[in-house]
Amino acid sequence: MHRTARVGLRLTRAQRARCYGLLRSAGDVWACVLEVNHWRWRHDAPPVVGYQALCRELSAAGPGTFGELDSTGARSVLRRYSDAWFAAAKRRHAGDLTARFPRRRRGLLPVRYYHGTYTLDRRRLRLPTAAGSRPLWLRLDRDVPYPMEQVRSVTLLAEGGRLWIEVTAEVPVTSYPQGAAPDPGRVAGVDLGVIHPYAVAGPDGHGLLVSGRAVRAEHRMHLADTKHRRRATAGQAPKPGQRGSRRWRQARRRARLVEGRHRRRIRQAQHEAAKTVIDWAVRHRVGTLTVGDPRGVLDLPAGRRHNLRLRQWQIGRAISMLRDKAELAGIVVHLVDERGTSSTCPTCRKRISKPAGRTMTCRLCNLTGHRDLFAAATIATRTPGRTPATEAGGGSSVTTAVVLPRTLTHRRAGRHLPGAGLSRRDPRRPHHTDHHHQRWRLVRHRRR
Ligand SMILES: [Zn+2]
Repeated sequence: MHRTARVGLRLTRAQRARCYGLLRSAGDVWACVLEVNHWRWRHDAPPVVGYQALCRELSAAGPGTFGELDSTGARSVLRRYSDAWFAAAKRRHAGDLTARFPRRRRGLLPVRYYHGTYTLDRRRLRLPTAAGSRPLWLRLDRDVPYPMEQVRSVTLLAEGGRLWIEVTAEVPVTSYPQGAAPDPGRVAGVDLGVIHPYAVAGPDGHGLLVSGRAVRAEHRMHLADTKHRRRATAGQAPKPGQRGSRRWRQARRRARLVEGRHRRRIRQAQHEAAKTVIDWAVRHRVGTLTVGDPRGVLDLPAGRRHNLRLRQWQIGRAISMLRDKAELAGIVVHLVDERGTSSTCPTCRKRISKPAGRTMTCRLCNLTGHRDLFAAATIATRTPGRTPATEAGGGSSVTTAVVLPRTLTHRRAGRHLPGAGLSRRDPRRPHHTDHHHQRWRLVRHRRR
């Protein structure tokens, strides 16, 4: 399976200028294709959309048309255009008329280079450039997290005011010693949320709660910071028609950098949270994760379109990150409808009016416990069974016995975030280690 990691760059001013030149040239290639097809559309000619056909148009344009961008880099833009066009056509064919064919120009466009066209030597990367231009060597700010022989492509892109290299590698699925592999028969239910990004109820009464408090603190601090900065720089904003001052441009650039850093922090925290779940699952040999999807999407074969939507959603990102890491660990992920799970008693299945706090109490059977974990336990019972009826798409699920979490592991996502770390808030508390378990009695039955 393919994995992608983003690596920062350490560049001189000249190298940075050349990288931006490549991205701008890629944007020019994109604009050219749009223009050609717009011209054809006005003359009732079919658009050129196939990758091979686009490549023929490119070679007809001749070398040197797009600055330092060489033909492999330019072709990656054509590939992107072709893929986007066919994805839109497929969606429209399926009846989704909101799907748009590519039509927007973009100033900067990522450039991808496939294996064999670039040179990667630890932290040194040489990107191919057009004939006649000097070789472009770049320095990465950290080691690529994959063995060199697994790397399949590198992509140059700009995001949040910075330049990045995305390294894509083909990574084998984790192998386990005998008897230690995740068992598909061992199921855990996963409830997604904002307070707790993941609440997990697994077999043998083991549960996991991943706290997102640090992430929310980061969001809050960033918002306050942004407001403050906006107020501070409002006086420097140019009036319509007036040229922006240098100070204003600098303030804007700084704001972009801060915005980018904020997004990276959130992303890393989300990765950590998903990794926590997978590590926990592996430790408990859970081979099936049944995830409650708040959007009511069922476990249907997910096409490209569905995957794209998932990526655009924040909740979708939590799911797709979990999916990616699960796949690598050899764990199956099912998406099921989560409707009603946070307001249903897991044991007697009676409806409970929405509790105000995190604690849920059933008046009928006097069961009380953590709402998200109860939801996760109910979600686990919705795991699609492997009966012929469900294989054929019947959609019914095999009802399994509910297992309430009794032994709980607490983890927090985004421990690296400034101002939100445990150590900062209270340095006296012992440092969390990977094997640190906080156990408590989570579920108790009151007098019957
Ligand atoms: Zn009950």
